[in-house]
Amino acid sequence: PFDVLVVGAGPAGAAAAIYAARKGIRTGIVAERFGGQVQDTMAIENFISVEYTEGPKLSAALEAHVRSYGVEMIPLQRAEELIPAKQPGGLIGVRLASGPVLQARSVVLAPGARWRQTGVPGEAEHRNKGVTYCPHCDGPLFKGKKVAVIGGGNSGVEAAIDLAGLVDHVTVLEFDGQLRADEVLQRKLRSLPNCSVHVNAQTTGMHGDGSKLNALSYTDRSNGETRQLDLSGVFVQIGLLPNSEWLKGTIELSNRGEIVINDRGETSLPGVLAAGDATTVPYKQIVIAMGAGSTAALSAFDYLIRTSAP
Ligand code: FAD
Repeated sequence: PFDVLVVGAGPAGAAAAIYAARKGIRTGIVAERFGGQVQDTMAIENFISVEYTEGPKLSAALEAHVRSYGVEMIPLQRAEELIPAKQPGGLIGVRLASGPVLQARSVVLAPGARWRQTGVPGEAEHRNKGVTYCPHCDGPLFKGKKVAVIGGGNSGVEAAIDLAGLVDHVTVLEFDGQLRADEVLQRKLRSLPNCSVHVNAQTTGMHGDGSKLNALSYTDRSNGETRQLDLSGVFVQIGLLPNSEWLKGTIELSNRGEIVINDRGETSLPGVLAAGDATTVPYKQIVIAMGAGSTAALSAFDYLIRTSAP
């Protein structure tokens, strides 16, 4: 069995594996895809100390770093069940979709998350060509341009307020008859001269010339009219879905499905730590996931030296 088994090989999982392996303990990492969301990212300009890099490059560097420590890699495998230890300090199981159960004295869960998509025509074709999901990552790319934010919940309105300081104009589109963000955020949004809000707006398409987005269409649900906005960017802010469905009922999840952790990365199960976008950590970013993965591995080590196998 492993001392530490990491599930997920994005920034959080890679950091956890490196920190664990550096303690000289038997470390394994199992993941569907090395690099996680980083694989889907074009330009990365906020990976501190690196002015510019690209997703596939960072992902390859993560993999090489993990390999250099002799971590046992179990690639292209999906975990589908977490089996708690039968007694304190005992072995925890991770069942793979392909059948086998991996065993470890401690487990770091880092399965990440995925952005909810609108699914309208043109969205997938213009991903990274004007359609984006991350204001912290891509806001500066739209300096002085017109953008829309889809979603009037807290994340959508926060994104709009954030973008208003960078771009020429922000239009918030909310499907419902009213914004759902906290009142204080709505008030702030209303105070900004370069933001407008359309409620009852059902996005129906994103348009461009194939290489670049230039417009978005929506239906005004109050009267059925179709409208078009000319713009350069669309920020889709309709939810981040943690890849935690398989953990339901085994460990505590928040009402959004995030793995509940404390500031040491501990979950509701002893010996099971978690890190990154799949958790209740407030901000979802590469450097934050890496810090959290390191924290989780150090906590796993702490757990191991304080417990003995029964
Ligand atoms: P992820 O990167 O999501 O990795 C999850 C890992 O778990 C993957 O290896 C996956 O295959 C695996 N996995 C999931 N479920 C299972 C399972 N059941 N069994 C086995 N393996 C599983 N952040 C920035 O800081 N800067 C940016 O510029 C930036 N740009 C972004 C652009 C895009 C398009 C996207 C989508 C995100 C961007 N982000 C950016 C956010 C950043 O990518 C995430 O915060 C970060 O990748 C989270 O790391 P993570 O390790 O928690 O999860």
